[in-house]
Amino acid sequence: MPVLNREALEKYEEAGRIASKVRERMRSVVKEGMRIVKICEEAEEAIRRMGGKPAFPCNVSVNEVAAHYTSPLGDERTIPEGSIVKIDIGVHVDGYIADTAVTVCFNPEYEEMVQTSQIALETAIRTIRPGIFTSELGSKVQRVIESRGFKPISNLTGHQIGRYMIHAGKSLPNVSHVSFRRIREGEVYAIEPFVTTLEAEGKVIEGNESHIFRFLKRKNPKQRESKKLLRFIEKNFRTLPFAKRWLKKYGVLDESAFMDLLESRCLLAYPVFVEASGKYVAQFEHTVYIDKDGPIVLT
Ligand code: MN
Ligand code: MN
Repeated sequence: MPVLNREALEKYEEAGRIASKVRERMRSVVKEGMRIVKICEEAEEAIRRMGGKPAFPCNVSVNEVAAHYTSPLGDERTIPEGSIVKIDIGVHVDGYIADTAVTVCFNPEYEEMVQTSQIALETAIRTIRPGIFTSELGSKVQRVIESRGFKPISNLTGHQIGRYMIHAGKSLPNVSHVSFRRIREGEVYAIEPFVTTLEAEGKVIEGNESHIFRFLKRKNPKQRESKKLLRFIEKNFRTLPFAKRWLKKYGVLDESAFMDLLESRCLLAYPVFVEASGKYVAQFEHTVYIDKDGPIVLT
C-alpha cells in the first residue's frame, strides 16, 4: 500500500494549519446581522494571505441549508437573528487539500444539537484507524447522534481527499450502511457528521439556487469568449470548485460566456443542499491523515 511521501504530508499539514486558523478566526467574526459576503471574502482573503489557496468558495450555510451556499455576486443577505451558521473552509497547498467546518450557534434552543455534531466528529476521530470498515464508523456515529436524541443526515457523507480532488474514492456515511470498504493507512479523509432534529426527515434535497461551480469538460463551447473563460477556469482552479465572485475579482467574468459554458455543460453547478423537511442542520468537520496507529488531525 503506497503511503504518502513526506513532501505531500507536509503540504497537507500546511493546508491544515491555514484552514484551522481561518476557521477559528471566522468563528469569532460571525455575528447576527453581518453580511454573508463579508464572511466569505474575509475567509478567502485570509487563506491567500497565509500562503494557501481556497480549495472551494467559503460556504456559509444558514439553518436548514446544510451545505453549498456561498455568496453570489451582489449578495445582500445577512446572518439572521437566532440562526445556526455552518462555516466550511477549504484550503489547498499545491493541490493538497484541508477541509474543515464549524457551526456557530445564535439560538440556545439548538445548542445541544450543535454540540452533538461536535461530539459525533470527536467519536469518529477516536474510532477511525487503518483496517476499520466504513460501515463500522457510520454505525458508531449514528449511535452517538441518536443516543443524544438527534438524527444524522443520511445522504451527506465524509469523503476521502486526493490531490486537487475534494471527493476522491471512498465516502464516509454518518449512518450504518452495507459496505466492505476499509480505511487504509496513508489515506486522507474529511470527516463531517451532519446532525438534525428527531422530527426532521434526516436527508437533504437540492435547493433551487447554485452559486458554486467547477470545470467539467473542455468540449467545444460555442463562443470564442467562452473558450477563453474556460481556459482561465481550468488553469486557475483545475477541477476545484469556484465562485463567480472570484471571476469578477480577476476581471474575467463575462456573463454570456459563463451562461454558454453552463449550457454546453463545460461547467458543473452545485445546488445548495437543504434539509428535506426544512429543519435546522449542524455540522463539524476535520481533515485527518490515517497514520499506522490512527488518525492525525490536520485541521
Ligand atoms: Mn467541508
Ligand atoms: Mn468535506
